Amino acid sequence: MTPHIDPRLFSLTYLKGVGPKRAELLKKELGLSTILDLLYQVPTHYTDRSRVRQIASFEGEMPAVLVRGRFVSFARHGEGAKARRVGLFTDGTRTMEIVWFRRLKEIERLYVTGRDYVVFGRPTMFQNRWSMVHPEIDAEGSDLAAEGLRGVYPLTETLRNRGFTSRTFNTLVHTALAIPGLTIDDPMTPGMRDRLRMMPLAQAIAEVHFPTSNQTLLEARRRLKFDELFYLQLDILRYARHRREASAGQRFGLIGTYFNTFYSRFLPFELTGAQKRVVREIHRDMSTGRQMNRLLQGDVGSGKTLVAVLSALIALDNGAQACIMAPTEILATQHFHSISQLLAPAGINVRLLTGSTGARERADIDRELQDGTLHLLIGTHAVIEDRVQFRNLGLVIIDEQHRFGVAQRARLWAKNSMPPHVLVMTATPIPRTLAMTVYGDLAVSVIDELPPGRKPVKTLLRYDDRRLEVYRGISQQLAKGRQVYIVYPLIDENEKLDLTSLAEGYEEIRETFRNHTIAYVHGRMKPAEKDHQMNLFASGRAEILVATTVIEVGVNVPNATTMVIENAERFGLSQLHQLRGRVGRGDAESYCILMSRHNISRETRRRLEIMTQTTDGFVIAEEDLKMRGPGDLEGTMQSGLPVNLRLASLTQDGPVLEEARREAETLLDADPSLIAPDNVAIARELAVRFPRSADWGRIS
Ligand code: ADP
Ligand code: MG
Repeated sequence: MTPHIDPRLFSLTYLKGVGPKRAELLKKELGLSTILDLLYQVPTHYTDRSRVRQIASFEGEMPAVLVRGRFVSFARHGEGAKARRVGLFTDGTRTMEIVWFRRLKEIERLYVTGRDYVVFGRPTMFQNRWSMVHPEIDAEGSDLAAEGLRGVYPLTETLRNRGFTSRTFNTLVHTALAIPGLTIDDPMTPGMRDRLRMMPLAQAIAEVHFPTSNQTLLEARRRLKFDELFYLQLDILRYARHRREASAGQRFGLIGTYFNTFYSRFLPFELTGAQKRVVREIHRDMSTGRQMNRLLQGDVGSGKTLVAVLSALIALDNGAQACIMAPTEILATQHFHSISQLLAPAGINVRLLTGSTGARERADIDRELQDGTLHLLIGTHAVIEDRVQFRNLGLVIIDEQHRFGVAQRARLWAKNSMPPHVLVMTATPIPRTLAMTVYGDLAVSVIDELPPGRKPVKTLLRYDDRRLEVYRGISQQLAKGRQVYIVYPLIDENEKLDLTSLAEGYEEIRETFRNHTIAYVHGRMKPAEKDHQMNLFASGRAEILVATTVIEVGVNVPNATTMVIENAERFGLSQLHQLRGRVGRGDAESYCILMSRHNISRETRRRLEIMTQTTDGFVIAEEDLKMRGPGDLEGTMQSGLPVNLRLASLTQDGPVLEEARREAETLLDADPSLIAPDNVAIARELAVRFPRSADWGRIS
């Protein structure tokens, strides 16, 4: 009988074709040390070699293709580091050049004229000639020239220079899978596999390296993606459950005078169903005796502020203070004005603390915070400074959280002996399961309903050549007494240039609308000047506000019915959505005009067109997720995670993520410590993938 060989314990050094030198290289370059590591080093993508292309048919941007033919001649060009070998290759329809820059000696020996080869690579046009650089080449008739799907493996530059190719990996995996007695244990029971319609692990691994068809490859990848996400979810849930049990919180069971008086006498309008539900969720969460850590998602204009206020009142009713933190001075100031107006009649003391609060006022605030007469503090990150000490901080509300770092939040938590409840509000709607993953262990509430009577903002895409027409539209709105935003992009790397275009735009607007007052705001202004300009617009004394994206979050001027976004092609979808949320806040018809250059890519045009077709934040967020490639949003999200996902993508694999979350929840509900015989293998795998539970409270 052959013994069972565990690929986890089998060092790569002993694999035929590796040896100590290559093993060290693989360890250093890719972190691979065992056979199992090698098996999990899966192709990033596949090329379909089933279709042979004729050189004469090449045109435009070409994908990698397969060509059959012969070398006609070879030549060597250049010297030293610039040396290269060029082979002239023909398939009978036309010739192309095949170029090598490395391993020239070896190449000279390998390929000769007069023999049949199969060449696989991406043709590019260079000096009017098709060429391929370092393609894969096989002798006709060898088994590696077989057609079909072929994996492309992730390689480092060093590995490439040492002669490693995708084919090297293919061969190594092939050798590994052929080791007699090699057993890949599947922690998933047959019952679970059947229920989820999942392929056995060993089959999935073989299939991703050597696909037999597109369909089976998809199934194999789904299985491996599921595994990655499933153990990730198990770890998150295990952490969240543990923390819920371990972290005591203040018990806010009471709904008392503050809340009831405000609700019955001063509430400016009937709450939407979604607002009511969310307030109930928050109250329930704050009354358990455990610390609340909750994310509140709601599209722009969905009424998050009111939910924040009502939550704060619950804290007050239970003898605690509350604090609302906003990312910018403008936003904090505006929150302060609208909230103190709401709450003053109910006898609630609200104060504003920002970087520009004067010393005398600060002293008052400090005193009132400590003697408890200050109920609700609103501010920028000035509130997290150590000198700001509360008597009993019970609830922290963070608006538009993506601008706050985790470390900053942690400092807030430390402001009380019993940690305050935390409510994080965001208008960036991402699917719930994804939110629960990237924000670690936060619970999620969603306001999925806008206040009644809102008219969707009419959104138009206009190219620069129709600027005059756009200006005429603005004039008409101004004539009706409405106000207008004109927004310019401000992107950090290019701040100088943007400020110039902002300044020029401002001049042009002043020229065009001579008999109107125009306010002007950008992020580099002194706070006092910024406030002055914002107030000009908010109070209606200025009819036009020329601004950068500092107005993106939160600003509320219902009489502003039109927004023109300059260089709209430079914004992301979610950002455009946030900006557009500044109009359509009253009952008048509102407009958002996206101005763009004419020559933009098809992709950009599509992005802008989505904005003209929908105002649903979730739809836009999902499109945004779909359209951004890896490395952008994906990268940001990934970088928060304690593990590296090889196959699964948080943004592209929503359904698998949902499935993994559900399974993980069901499993832990039934067997919290994973000790049932059926689950022991899963527990062991979890321990291997997450030797120490990640600190999910620190994520996001
Ligand atoms: P956001 O969720 O973007 O922070 P806000 O809290 O600023 O939204 O609310 C947007 C606007 O809707 C505000 O003018 C607010 O007064 C109004 N509003 C909030 N809730 C309701 C409601 N239930 N009915 C009508 N208007 C509401
Ligand atoms: Mg808001």
